[in-house]
Amino acid sequence: NDYILEIEDLTVKYITEDSIVSAVNNMSLKLERGNTLGFVGETGAGKTTTAKSIMRLLPEPPTKIESGKIIFNGENILEKSIKHMQSIRGNKISMIFQDPMTALNPVIPIIDQIAEVILLHQTKDRKAAYKRAEEMLEIVEIKKERGEEYPHQFSGGMKQRVVIAIALACTPDLLIADEPTTALDVTIQAQVLKLMHDIKESNNTSMIMITHDLGIVAEACDNVAVIYAGSIVEYGTKEDIFNSHAHPYTEGLFNCIPDLSKTESELIPIKGIMPDPSDLPTGCKFHPRCPYAVDRCSKEEPESKEISDGHMVKCFLEHRK
Ligand code: SF4
Repeated sequence: NDYILEIEDLTVKYITEDSIVSAVNNMSLKLERGNTLGFVGETGAGKTTTAKSIMRLLPEPPTKIESGKIIFNGENILEKSIKHMQSIRGNKISMIFQDPMTALNPVIPIIDQIAEVILLHQTKDRKAAYKRAEEMLEIVEIKKERGEEYPHQFSGGMKQRVVIAIALACTPDLLIADEPTTALDVTIQAQVLKLMHDIKESNNTSMIMITHDLGIVAEACDNVAVIYAGSIVEYGTKEDIFNSHAHPYTEGLFNCIPDLSKTESELIPIKGIMPDPSDLPTGCKFHPRCPYAVDRCSKEEPESKEISDGHMVKCFLEHRK
């Protein structure tokens, strides 16, 4: 298989004077080129920290990437210099955040903001960069005449389309989208998702879609990593996760949604709360909330086991049979 991204045994901590927070614990995953992988889980599960580690966007300190490898296009980017990362970021790997305004500069016309990233990474020819910026506006279905306008003159959905245009202007190999449609209303959400899908298909871009919305997973993802307390507790194809999920946490996520066809299919938190990452439970991190927990679960941490081809589950399943 041809993998664009392989994460091996990644552990990330935030170290402050009075606490050590385990944000990502021994995480491993592989993303096939051209595929979309969903990161699913509640807020605070470590989804965004993992994504920002891939971008090397976490301030070190207080963040410490304690161990592991992040192999992108065959190279361990954790060994690369800041300068090398700057040449990858926005060029080979791009990220879209939930709030488009964090990515846009309010005092610069949008065409200039798109051209800027092209000038930084792809060409020094200003005319060519502006031509490409206009093309990108058209791809995200914004009339090029509007390029002279400022972000505040655009609606939320249009601003997010501008962000997508910036993120994809250099045709990155990997696009990381962190809750990209959460701030948008439902009809606009669908348009933005379709647009991302179409651009991704035409460029064979690989994608990580961070979401807490299983409706988005159903629509946009090929594979799914269910993340809890900084670890992947279940990993499989979309079909594995939707039709034959096996981890109690995944089951909880699905039980929270009465009707998946409803557009407001956001996750309602499962009984109990996510554990404090500076004081994680012993054994299986999910045991305080798990309806199937037995003695062993609070003492021993389960390994991730393959229950069918590529479908991994981190749980002592035996006693549940
Ligand atoms: Fe529940 Fe035990 Fe499985 Fe953890 S290992 S998910 S506590 S059954």
